[in-house]
Amino acid sequence: MSIALVSTDRLLSRRSVALAQLLASTPSVVSAESPQGLPLRDRLARPLTDLRLSVTDRCNFRCPYCMPRSKLGPVVAPMQRSRMLDFDELVRIASAFVELGVTKIRITGGEPLLRRDLAQLVKMLSSLSVDDLCLTTNGSLLKGQARALVDAGLRRVTVSLDALDEPTFRRMTDSQTSIAKVLEGIDMARRCGLEPVKINMVVQRGVNEHSVLPMAQWARSEGLELRYIEYMDVGRTNGWREEDVFTAAEIRDKIHQQWPVEPVETADTPATAQRFRYRDGQGEFGIIASVSRPFCRGCTRARVSSYGELYPCLFASTGLDLATPLRHGQELRPLITKLWRQRGDRYSELRSDVPSYSPRPEMSAIGG
Ligand code: SAM
Ligand code: SF4
Ligand code: SF4
Repeated sequence: MSIALVSTDRLLSRRSVALAQLLASTPSVVSAESPQGLPLRDRLARPLTDLRLSVTDRCNFRCPYCMPRSKLGPVVAPMQRSRMLDFDELVRIASAFVELGVTKIRITGGEPLLRRDLAQLVKMLSSLSVDDLCLTTNGSLLKGQARALVDAGLRRVTVSLDALDEPTFRRMTDSQTSIAKVLEGIDMARRCGLEPVKINMVVQRGVNEHSVLPMAQWARSEGLELRYIEYMDVGRTNGWREEDVFTAAEIRDKIHQQWPVEPVETADTPATAQRFRYRDGQGEFGIIASVSRPFCRGCTRARVSSYGELYPCLFASTGLDLATPLRHGQELRPLITKLWRQRGDRYSELRSDVPSYSPRPEMSAIGG
């Protein structure tokens, strides 16, 4: 079986080839909209269909790959609380996106379950009648909130969990929370009907790569959908180094040696996650290879921070302020439309060519 994944030492050369191919094949302006102009399409013909809505930039964890404790302070100091969007403002922004063709909203953060009365926001968002309303959480507070979230209209949940042994979990989260809390949260979510629960696992070389197999075994036996995520160079605080990326190829090989797998073909081109199925029939898993096999050409996501800044890419150097025009009664749709039509972001495909000093938002401000 040949699977087109690359190891770390070949990342840069493969990326240069991919970039050359991309530049050769990418039209500068593409118009592929329906007669109504929806869904909006950007310069690379990517539709605007997904919204990541951050409801806070605070978190009770300090995962070093996201909010390293030593770098907090000036870099990611929470801004004035009064600037944060209230529920009504968040819903008005989400509503503008839905009117422009967005069909999926993911609530994120920071840790979204820290936002007081989150279920109330979920209820308000569920009235927008999107196809998918879901949430990403670290799971530590899920047990106590799952029932209210489901009753409010939440349909799916993704829980981030990077290890199953306490020392590695503590290292990956830099928190005193025990894994039991997260597992109880997952259990409660399932009992409340939030199936299938998806699990996100960031894999960092030398830190939790030994957890790849235990996590696979657990997900297989529990019937959970596990997605491995390559460690990304998001933000400016995590001190990312390419050699710390445990690549998709390495993850897949490790699992394949234990339980043979085969790729699952998907209709998406290129799909966000590469999917694999176990040949013994005991489930599937995904790998998000943002570094070794970027999927910018399939990126249909806009991200809005809890302060109302719109980012067309995880690596965009600035966000478009939607809060001020919203508070002045201005129509948001023309602003979003203009930004999306001008969008040409494909950072992950260009990574090695982008200056390392260019600014970018922290993951905790705009979600994953
Ligand atoms: N606090 C919630 C959580 O952890 O699920 C939601 C926000 S968190 C920023 C969203 C996702 O981003 C998580 O699955 C997390 O693992 C992922 N993430 C954060 N930093 C990352 C990095 N440097 N590389 C890859 N994924 C990252
Ligand atoms: Fe918090 Fe999620 Fe970032 Fe970890 S990944 S620090 S849980 S926001
Ligand atoms: Fe999307 Fe930007 Fe990530 Fe590419 S780098 S997949 S455009 S968020």
